Amino acid sequence: MNLTPYQMYINGRYCEAQSGNRFDSLTPSTAQPWASFPDATEVDADIAVTAAHQAFVSPAWAGLTATARGKLLRTLGDLIADHRELLAELESRENGKLIRETRGQMGYLPEFFYYMAGLADKIEGQTLPVDKSDMMAYTLHEPMGVVAAIVPWNSPLYLTAIKMAPALAAGNTLVIKPSEHASASIVALGKLVEQAGFPAGVVNIITGYGPSAGAALTRHPLVRHVAFTGGAATARHVVRSSAENFAHLSLELGGKSPQIVFPDADIDSAVNGIVAGVFAASGQSCVAGSRLLIHDSIYDEVVARVCERASRICIGDPLAEETEMGPMTTLAQLDIADNMVQQAISEGAVLRYGGQRVECNGGWYFQPTLLESDSSSNSLMQEEVFGPVTAAIRFHTEAEALALANDTRYGLAAGIWTRDIARAHRLSKAVRSGIIWVNTYRVVSAMAPIGGFGDSGYGREGGIEAVLSYTEKKTVWVNLSSEPMSDPFVMR
Ligand code: NAP
Repeated sequence: MNLTPYQMYINGRYCEAQSGNRFDSLTPSTAQPWASFPDATEVDADIAVTAAHQAFVSPAWAGLTATARGKLLRTLGDLIADHRELLAELESRENGKLIRETRGQMGYLPEFFYYMAGLADKIEGQTLPVDKSDMMAYTLHEPMGVVAAIVPWNSPLYLTAIKMAPALAAGNTLVIKPSEHASASIVALGKLVEQAGFPAGVVNIITGYGPSAGAALTRHPLVRHVAFTGGAATARHVVRSSAENFAHLSLELGGKSPQIVFPDADIDSAVNGIVAGVFAASGQSCVAGSRLLIHDSIYDEVVARVCERASRICIGDPLAEETEMGPMTTLAQLDIADNMVQQAISEGAVLRYGGQRVECNGGWYFQPTLLESDSSSNSLMQEEVFGPVTAAIRFHTEAEALALANDTRYGLAAGIWTRDIARAHRLSKAVRSGIIWVNTYRVVSAMAPIGGFGDSGYGREGGIEAVLSYTEKKTVWVNLSSEPMSDPFVMR
């Protein structure tokens, strides 16, 4: 079979790994190889970081005004808009996400670049009203240096854009390491970066395996910020290796997000929100609403309706327009979903729908699955599946719903379904998670921060503050007095 051969993008050039080794990538809808990529190791990571560092201090980048950086970002946004169909198809092919969904994501992607482009020349320091009459003090926000962006396979371009756009707006340079399972769309982005006119070395892309190429980036002494999205186990490695150099970190990790449904909710909307929240993207979404907390009085109806809708989901080729659920991205992820369902059943959960692998063109498909549990300690209530699997449990009072919602070490997102405005705000404050959606689910915006509590990570992406998180704050003191400095042995 002829595989599409992709190359890495380092210092403005397309290149192979120094070893000359490559690896194949499989398309999840058929489990067949379709593309191959250079297998970068430590030496390639070093070349890319060195190029990014040289670009960071070069007049071609460091000498640009913030307004000029903003213009480059806007041009890149326009180019992404022009190539959205190609980018959407690449992502659907490599991670199995529905073409309808990747088209939507690519259509919105330019907004991240436009929004951050607008912020580039609004990164302002402050004049400080210091309590010393002969001193003036002010702050500056300066770029950090090289940012390593490490992204998983489920939404490679979206998760890259949300890091790359603010990092560049603030004047940093980047090395991006996509997942070995989904690198093609990121490499394609490299071409657009080049066309947009970014100086060589400002954006670099290396492809390879996490424990080799990824780990080498996180421990490189010239990397000043690691922006990581992925699982908690990998994040622990990232934290340890970045500690060697005290690199800044942002960690966007997993979740076990509750969908809380009250009796006064619009049940049609809640059912649609639940189905969209956990079966869209085959549940391979960090914010998957994978715990259903449903009031006793409507529990049977809601569970029956979610199962009924799940039974009508059209499973198949992600590139076909009529498909509603595609495959799992990797065979490992399919095995995890299958094993976790079996484990939950062995702990007492009751399977209400799904729970089986689906035979379709040899790909890695799993049924949309709902289980019931009367215990919040069931593993399915506590562990992230990252698949189309959700667990339902009853509650009787708002206090019980809140206790269940917060009975998790994660805290990424939560859905609250109610028409009672006071309850909606009360719970929005009390539920411990980074995003609360009231009577909706899975809405994102370049203008809104995203991030988690607890094991869902720390740091926030998106929104105005994201751009500041890629800067170092500096305080400048100026002596306004014309008197000579007298006693050297006092703190002024
Ligand atoms: P993962 O295994 O942690 O991988 C994430 C990234 O880290 C990949 O690029 C991976 O490369 C790389 N990596 C692996 N080992 C590494 C190491 N030792 N040092 C540095 N980098 C390393 O996560 P995943 O299974 O791909 O993604 C699923 C997880 O991401 C889920 O937990 C999900 O909830 C989370 N996620 C969170 C968000 C959010 O915004 N909060 C969004 C999407 C996904 P390779 O793939 O090549 O090994």
